[in-house]
Amino acid sequence: MWISFTKCPLVFRKQSINLIRCSSNLGLSEYVPNCPPADPNEVERLQDFVLSSRRLFVMTGAGISTESGIPDYRSEGVGLYARTERRPIQHAEFVRSQAARRRYWARNFVGWPQFSSHKPNKAHMALYNWENAAKLHWLVTQNVDALHAKAGQRRLTELHGCTHRVICLGCQTVSSRFELQERFIALNPSWNEHAYGVAPDGDVFLTDEQVSNFRVPPCNKCGGILKPQVTFFGDTVNRELVFSLYEQLGQADAMLVVGSSLQVYSGYRFALKAQEKGIPIAILNIGPTRADHLAVVKVIARCGDILPKIMPLNRHQQETVS
Ligand SMILES: [Zn+2]
Repeated sequence: MWISFTKCPLVFRKQSINLIRCSSNLGLSEYVPNCPPADPNEVERLQDFVLSSRRLFVMTGAGISTESGIPDYRSEGVGLYARTERRPIQHAEFVRSQAARRRYWARNFVGWPQFSSHKPNKAHMALYNWENAAKLHWLVTQNVDALHAKAGQRRLTELHGCTHRVICLGCQTVSSRFELQERFIALNPSWNEHAYGVAPDGDVFLTDEQVSNFRVPPCNKCGGILKPQVTFFGDTVNRELVFSLYEQLGQADAMLVVGSSLQVYSGYRFALKAQEKGIPIAILNIGPTRADHLAVVKVIARCGDILPKIMPLNRHQQETVS
């Protein structure tokens, strides 16, 4: 189903890229891979796994946000790698090339109103409820969409940063992406170009010709280069952040992976660390993951179909907490 142009802030001319949606309330099948019904025995084992943990370390990935209407990169058939020729910007290219930055920000500017409007889904809310039930020790997400923060999660680390924040590469000042949007609008009052689709990082599809006149402001404080506070491909995650998360993992008694294939080492290393520490691992994901061989429980299902059904506490634990 295509959105009426009159209701949609973006105009889509490239019919072949059929992944655009102006609302996150539309059909999930556009972004979520097909999946057979979950094995009830595995779901029961996941329930037991969660109940038996007192300090659960949870890692989430793109699979939890596809149900909010945000496409991932890697899912078979529906991920951006499968559907388009586009690949995310590399860190070195962003730092090195003013033209690359202009192109990135122009696309990001157009995609921002839609990308920033996505809402947490029932899987995010389930994990928020687990935190309130004192079940969840720490949540680390590989996502940069702010949906866990929007759900209210506090015991949270955004491993690869967040598109809602901007950092100056000169003075390291962090500011709001919403503020930057206002500066973009002020600098580019007549800029009204067409977008073709939103990527996981909020980027959209534009031609070089369309972005050539787009103006990008520098840092207000030092005149430095502004960059989303996001770990781009080709960059590495801060070592201190990783070590602090290893400490959190070391205080946990179980690890649950939600909606991630763990193909990227920055996430996979936490599964390796859990194994090294003798911490059992459960996985909820539609497709195969890099850590399947390390898991004691593997549920193949949509996150939003399973997490809300998992009770974080049994009756005895509820009495203890209250
Ligand atoms: Zn600065």
